[in-house]
Amino acid sequence: MNAPQDGQLRGQLRYRADELPFENSYASLPPSFYTRLQATPVPAPYLVGASASAAALIGLDVEELARPETVDAFSGNRTLPGSEPLSAVYSGHQFGVWAGQLGDGRAILLGDVPANEPSPPGRLELQLKGAGLTPYSRMGDGRAVLRSSIREFLCSEAMAALGIPTSRALCVTGSDMPVFRETAETSAIATRMAPSFVRFGSFEHWFYNDRKEELRTLTDYVIERFYPELRNAEQPYRALLTEVARRTAELMAQWQSVGFMHGVMNTDNMSILGLTIDYGPFGFMEAFNARHICNHSDHQGRYAYHMQPRIGQWNCYALGQALLPLVGEVEDVEAALEIYKPAYEAKFDQLMHAKLGLMTRQESDSKLIDDMHTLMQNTHVDFTLFFRRLGNLQLDAPAGDEPIRDLFIDRPAFDAWAAQYRDRLRQESSDDIKRKQAMDAVNPKFVLRNYLAQIAIEKAQNKDFSEVARLLAVLERPFDEQPENEHYAELPPDWASELEVSCSS
Ligand code: AMP
Ligand code: MG
Repeated sequence: MNAPQDGQLRGQLRYRADELPFENSYASLPPSFYTRLQATPVPAPYLVGASASAAALIGLDVEELARPETVDAFSGNRTLPGSEPLSAVYSGHQFGVWAGQLGDGRAILLGDVPANEPSPPGRLELQLKGAGLTPYSRMGDGRAVLRSSIREFLCSEAMAALGIPTSRALCVTGSDMPVFRETAETSAIATRMAPSFVRFGSFEHWFYNDRKEELRTLTDYVIERFYPELRNAEQPYRALLTEVARRTAELMAQWQSVGFMHGVMNTDNMSILGLTIDYGPFGFMEAFNARHICNHSDHQGRYAYHMQPRIGQWNCYALGQALLPLVGEVEDVEAALEIYKPAYEAKFDQLMHAKLGLMTRQESDSKLIDDMHTLMQNTHVDFTLFFRRLGNLQLDAPAGDEPIRDLFIDRPAFDAWAAQYRDRLRQESSDDIKRKQAMDAVNPKFVLRNYLAQIAIEKAQNKDFSEVARLLAVLERPFDEQPENEHYAELPPDWASELEVSCSS
């Protein structure tokens, strides 16, 4: 998605921040679903980063986000006219264990506003994350640190540019107010947007509290507002479960296809709309290892890269359990969830064919793709560079393989697989130029490598926010060559291997 040019916004909507025509559909639910509250002000907030393309979605000009009044509003120091701030209650399974009540411990929903995309009358909810204590803060302080807020901001926008369903990030504001994690850090507030932040855990909350009426109210709300096409299904609740399982399965395939690891796939972090939400200790795969664990606190590797599709399914079963009182029969819940595996496999297969520039399907393709993963695993090749450079392969000029061969220490291993790949390409008379074009459109050159985020964070911690903006601009065009930004596509430097990402945020 390209940033709007010269203040020209796509779509029809255009507002000042104070004119945003807020509603709050979530507030129409019974009071037991949330607590109304105000954000807790922070001293002297400043703008850390803003996304022009996210702003354009709700008709805001990016310059509007830099105005002091707007910075105040998106720091929680001033309530935007018409907004009805609230925090929602939910529960969830954390690391496979029932955790009981959680809820928006540091997120405050301002309400929903009209959105330019997909096309009016779409709406997006605006949420402040890190805006102070709520009744659901438990042991937490209601705050978020600058480091994790920048990571969520950049990754949300990077995922959107990759075409992966995700919540969006409008802006990040900071304050010098200290926040204590392993050490003293400073606080930040991210404003994020999605049609809804309802999670699997929102349904589990009512199921495990034996509150069938609220469970039905929530489910009806979600169908009515976000899945209206299911209203007339024979069994709408079962149909919802199937649709959510399908979306979740496809999301997992998309994550796998770009090497994205979420890090904390607890049921309270699973969107009922099949979006990537709640960015924490996420990572993009670099040296390939299917068992890679990006979250340093995940000792068992429950959320390792190769586990994500299975965990997505496990989470859908948790949702199925919660919806059982509405669906009625265990058999119907199981039948509704049967779609998960084939939906995942079909999507993953489609994405892998596209990544390899294959236009046709053959039975032997699964062996080609399995052998590729074995090659990647054995050689720990860089995930992003491997697929990107593979697009340069020429059918009849093996000498041209050098840039991709250079990624491998074990070059004969690559050559062996490349021979198999070339044979397969010849079988469909693949055209080098067309194939490269198609592959470059799906294999990103630029992803949010940890070390790139780290550089932007360290500068921001010294009040230089320029790298946040520069990196955002690079990640907004992940498939473009961008010769001036070649260094953003390089292998991580040696110091990057020391980087650890924990749950602390
Ligand atoms: P997460 O897995 O990071 O999405 O968070 C799990 C739960 O902990 C959610 O209910 C969050 O709202 C809550 N939480 C995380 N960090 C904080 C914090 N600093 N203050 C209050 N609640 C928090
Ligand atoms: Mg969460």
